[in-house]
Amino acid sequence: MLQGCTAWVLDSVNCAPMNAPHASPADSAAKSSAKSPGNSPAAPPDVSPGAGISLVDIGLNLGHDSFDEDRAAVVARAQAAGVARMVITGASLPGTERALEVVRQWPETMRCTAGIHPHHATDLFEPGAEERLRALIQQPEIVAGGECGLDFFRNFSPQPIQIAAFEKQLEVCAEYQLPVFLHQRDAHPDFIKVLDRWLPQLPRAVVHCFTGTGDELQDYLDRDLYVGITGWICDERRGHHLRELVGRIPLHRLMLETDAPYLLPRDLPKTRLRHSGDRRNEPAYLPHILATVAHYRGETPETTAAGTTAAAQNFFGWP
Ligand SMILES: [Zn+2]
Repeated sequence: MLQGCTAWVLDSVNCAPMNAPHASPADSAAKSSAKSPGNSPAAPPDVSPGAGISLVDIGLNLGHDSFDEDRAAVVARAQAAGVARMVITGASLPGTERALEVVRQWPETMRCTAGIHPHHATDLFEPGAEERLRALIQQPEIVAGGECGLDFFRNFSPQPIQIAAFEKQLEVCAEYQLPVFLHQRDAHPDFIKVLDRWLPQLPRAVVHCFTGTGDELQDYLDRDLYVGITGWICDERRGHHLRELVGRIPLHRLMLETDAPYLLPRDLPKTRLRHSGDRRNEPAYLPHILATVAHYRGETPETTAAGTTAAAQNFFGWP
């Protein structure tokens, strides 16, 4: 089943544009220690488990069937790595129902969102679908509406239907005063146009898995949106531009996410994988993303961890 912002392959199809600026692939093996922040091609050192950090993975697809065999072990590894809380992305009606089942197994540790990804936008106009969404949104474990937004890269749903489904979900979120978890790919102008109609009535919104341009980022920051950064930034080819942009996001608007099982950080040391050739991403790898983000912001991982965790607690109203 299609879930999250991604499709069927774990590492190559996802919510980010394929036309992001590329850097030289020559530094793909770089694993040396941190240098000065900014343009260093070297991967920063990982934050080791037990370093006293407490992180929130604000977007992962823990209901995905690739976790069916070992979900409890995945959660235990994440907690041991300092990922204290996880917010599972609800990207369809059945996906949200599945996410709720998982959350209820770890009520202290997890919450989820309830929404319909633009890929599934047509589903919202099936008989009874809006009522089903409204019923889900009122569950106490739901801390945000979405994932919703626009995806004009794949156009799995027609664009006018995507816009209508996006608008309807923003309307419902405004009605229940829920923050919104947003997806945008290759649709920035229309995305902003729709969002601007609803933002005054919404408590908060995050553009998750941000991979866009500096101008797009500025549009989000001008609207005081939160921004979610994934392991895309760890890809020295596709994520190079993010390394220069990530420092522009105020710490109180920055949050971290793995998008697991998708978007395995490209530069993750092979020794961290469960077995060679393993392409499944896990929430336990969030500290690796933290280390990369902190490095390119010129902050200590502790500072970035504390700031992003506070931002997530504030965003989701989960103190
Ligand atoms: Zn997405």
